[in-house]
Amino acid sequence: MAAKFLLESGASSYPLALVDIIKNRMNELRCCYITEDKAHLMDEDWDPFFCSSRGIREATTVYYPKNDAYIIYHNTLIATNRRNLWSIAHEIGHIVLGHLKDFDETSHFKSISDDDYRILEKEANFFAAQTLSAPYILDDMGVSSEKDIQRICGISKEASEYRIAQFKNALIFGIYQDEAMVRKSFSAYIEKWNARRIAFEEVII
Ligand SMILES: [Zn+2]
Repeated sequence: MAAKFLLESGASSYPLALVDIIKNRMNELRCCYITEDKAHLMDEDWDPFFCSSRGIREATTVYYPKNDAYIIYHNTLIATNRRNLWSIAHEIGHIVLGHLKDFDETSHFKSISDDDYRILEKEANFFAAQTLSAPYILDDMGVSSEKDIQRICGISKEASEYRIAQFKNALIFGIYQDEAMVRKSFSAYIEKWNARRIAFEEVII
């Protein structure tokens, strides 16, 4: 799903411009993006970032069945830039994986068990990792250090640690057709990166 999303979004380099992607694909994804300063305009009595049992959220997505549409609410005030990218990718994961339609028709997982919630969160995080830091792209770039992943993909230390932990497993079964096509879209970017890296390595030798 992550590769399909990258492909359909026309992504060709990292870090991804996710907010622009959402804005460009609003109709197809049936979602719009709202930050904390505009959230109160939707409903004065409701705070999308507060959920009593599961704490304050950086981002949340609400599905509106009547319109078959989603709103991604994003609290940019409590997240750093690096966390921001992950939070949005995580919410897009919930949308494209159909979590909100399958599990709760009106709100963000209010009625599901903690176990189910954890599974959905894991799936959304996996989607975010595959979207923001696709292992087959990073492998082509010869990138495997946590610091480089952070810098190149614009993600947090925690997220790049998560990426590293899964790196080998992610590549063990080879890559799928969609992933091969994403690799093609990224080829100019990868080539440029490798040329720079080789030139840099020659300088320090
Ligand atoms: Zn979530």
